Amino acid sequence: MNKKHSYIDSTILGLNNSSEAHFKWLVKVLHFIANKSALMPELTYEDAHKICEFGQWIDERLTEERNDGSFLQDIHRKHHDIHITCRALVEAVRKGEVSDARFDSFENALIAFNASVTDYKTHLLQLRSSYDTLTGLPLRRTLDDSFSGMVDQYSQQGLYLLLMDIDHFKKINDNYGHLVGDGVLRCLALTLEDNVRKCETVYRYGGEEFIIVLHAATKKEACIAAERIRNLIARTLMLVAGHEIKITFTAGLTRIDEDEVLREVLERTDKALYHGKETGRNRCIYVDREKIMQKIEV
Ligand code: GH3
Ligand code: MG
Ligand code: MG
Repeated sequence: MNKKHSYIDSTILGLNNSSEAHFKWLVKVLHFIANKSALMPELTYEDAHKICEFGQWIDERLTEERNDGSFLQDIHRKHHDIHITCRALVEAVRKGEVSDARFDSFENALIAFNASVTDYKTHLLQLRSSYDTLTGLPLRRTLDDSFSGMVDQYSQQGLYLLLMDIDHFKKINDNYGHLVGDGVLRCLALTLEDNVRKCETVYRYGGEEFIIVLHAATKKEACIAAERIRNLIARTLMLVAGHEIKITFTAGLTRIDEDEVLREVLERTDKALYHGKETGRNRCIYVDREKIMQKIEV
């Protein structure tokens, strides 16, 4: 499973579990109010926010290298505030000096905390919908969104788009059933992800079509990479539900120039891909901006 996809899932799960722990903590506040003598570090200690389960979860997340640090920082701050206002309230109750203002600040802190968690969950769910549930790969929309930024950043060093389509995939479904077909798509996604460079991304473009944006300094380098991937997949024996299955794909490959939009690049590679299908399949076809096509042989 794609790492980003599983990290989103595990964060949502962690957020849900930790929020649940916080509800339990709130019940402890009620216990304290009812029975003032109880010693509860997660209510009364100065670093109570670090002792509670949620605090431990968020502190751990903050040590990780992530792109969503600002959401986590915000939640961390709001979480700290609920513990501070709770502690002040608890102290006031203990001293018999409780006031409406103390309850109001605790309530406000709880509302602000809840809003920050909701914001983060919304962000994570939006992010998750950009990933394919079957293969875990980013979907086409992710490529649409990131394309111009990627071109600005890397096209001078050399970017190439490889559009792949599995050959006769319908036969796999017909022969083994749709679930096995799904397993083959998952296996292909994993194999591709394991065999591209860290800076390169594999996308599920549509049903049995995938895209890799290759980083290569020259056309030759890109062609070698495309052929390496094609050969690798053609040699891979996929074990799906007890069946040993081999597949091939046909692909179009082109250079992404810095002044291009995704649509132009896709139109070109799509033509190359269909040329590859018409001329025998299990091959990569290079196409340049003048639409000249050439079977890649390295
Ligand atoms: P070609 O070599 O010309 O590409 O032949 P093909 O059979 O691969 O192409 P075609 O477009 O005729 O069929 C594509 C098949 O891919 C049909 C569709 O049911 C199957 N497919 C698309 N998405 C999925 C999926 O998520 N799971 C499964 N199991 N099959 C899928
Ligand atoms: Mg297709
Ligand atoms: Mg196909």
